[in-house]
Amino acid sequence: MKYDYLIVGSGLFGAVFARRAMDAGKTCLVLEKRAHTGGNVHCDDMEGVTVHTYGAHIFHTNDQRVWDFLNGYCDVHPFINSPIADYHGERYNLPFNMNTFHQMWGITEPEDAKAIIEKQRRAITGEPQNLEEQAISLVGTDIYEKLIRHYTEKQWGRPCTELPSFIIKRLPVRFTYDNNYFNDRYQGIPTGGYNGFIDALLKGADVRLNTDFNSDRACYRSLADRVIYTGTIDSFFDYCLGRLEYRSLRFETELLPIPSYQGTAVINYTDGDTPYTRIIEHKFFEDQGQHKTVITKEYPVAPGEGREPYYPINDERNLTLYAQYRQLADKETDVIFGGRLAEYKYYDMDQVIASALNCAEEIL
Ligand SMILES: Cc1cc2nc3c(=O)[nH]c(=O)nc-3n(C[C@H](O)[C@H](O)[C@H](O)COP(=O)(O)OP(=O)(O)OC[C@H]3O[C@@H](n4cnc5c(N)ncnc54)[C@H](O)[C@@H]3O)c2cc1C
Repeated sequence: MKYDYLIVGSGLFGAVFARRAMDAGKTCLVLEKRAHTGGNVHCDDMEGVTVHTYGAHIFHTNDQRVWDFLNGYCDVHPFINSPIADYHGERYNLPFNMNTFHQMWGITEPEDAKAIIEKQRRAITGEPQNLEEQAISLVGTDIYEKLIRHYTEKQWGRPCTELPSFIIKRLPVRFTYDNNYFNDRYQGIPTGGYNGFIDALLKGADVRLNTDFNSDRACYRSLADRVIYTGTIDSFFDYCLGRLEYRSLRFETELLPIPSYQGTAVINYTDGDTPYTRIIEHKFFEDQGQHKTVITKEYPVAPGEGREPYYPINDERNLTLYAQYRQLADKETDVIFGGRLAEYKYYDMDQVIASALNCAEEIL
């Protein structure tokens, strides 16, 4: 049988497009190289605890269309992301707000916090030359030193003085007692994790797991009229121009025989001695009340061949290389390149859903 669409990748982009295509009466074959569907939103069940396999995924959006779409296919559990920072045992609320400033300086009034930050920001005069100067010019020295510096150095594997200032464009500072990390109108997590949502999107499609499209492109392409490709763009072209770089992560997950490990979903370790950047305690995404708990330590990993690609590195080399691959992609008239890997772009979940909905609207 020949399908209308061959969809490479069963992550959010592929699954949302598949749903729209099938609703429009089209047939879809989905190829997925992993052993499960869902891409990075896939969840595992560990003794009744829903575990976000590829790191914490908290859905947040201002886009009414995307929020309605999500709620059309799953029940969404309310969740407000309010992470904690741990700096050598000192605890601070995030994002930077009056609670953080009270914990750091003992002050209680917004005007006092503003005055301290303003004074510390003056340490930098002139245009910031690197990430350290940029951060201090935005939030002052204390917040930089305790909450930004080492966390950022762990993430990038380089001193902040050697990182470009553009990595931090803004650092939101709130002079209210508000620990809600996101500013968006809607926030939550599908009840029981994302798998049910993905299953509902893929219902009716033929899905082949453990199947890498790039292992036999010609054969797979012959199975459908058009291809939606959501894998890495450089792998589609056999890395002929070189490899795009990504920062990666390593996850260390443990099941613990205790009701709670840290009493909250997310703690960032902002000191330089702790090798991981965060600990996630999954049960608090839904607070299911189990007697056991599951935690995941997140370790940053440098770019390199064979590592899972997570965050694109938007420096000149990579952006120029991506633009060259994009030119090759434009010549592939029956292939659409979509999602975070094919567009070499960091997308939040709501953005990737919006992008897939737009793509479907355009071509179906
Ligand atoms: C650690 C981390 C935490 C995040 N947290 C949040 C969050 O809290 N909130 C938020 O909104 N967003 C978050 N995101 C972003 C979110 O994960 C993405 O927006 C979303 O998963 C992108 O979907 P996608 O379909 O583009 O890509 P993916 O989910 O990567 O899906 C692509 C799929 O294609 C498959 N594939 C690739 N190549 C091939 C091939 N050759 N053949 C067959 N299959 C192939 C892959 O195996 C994968 O399943 C986070 C991302 C990361 C990395």
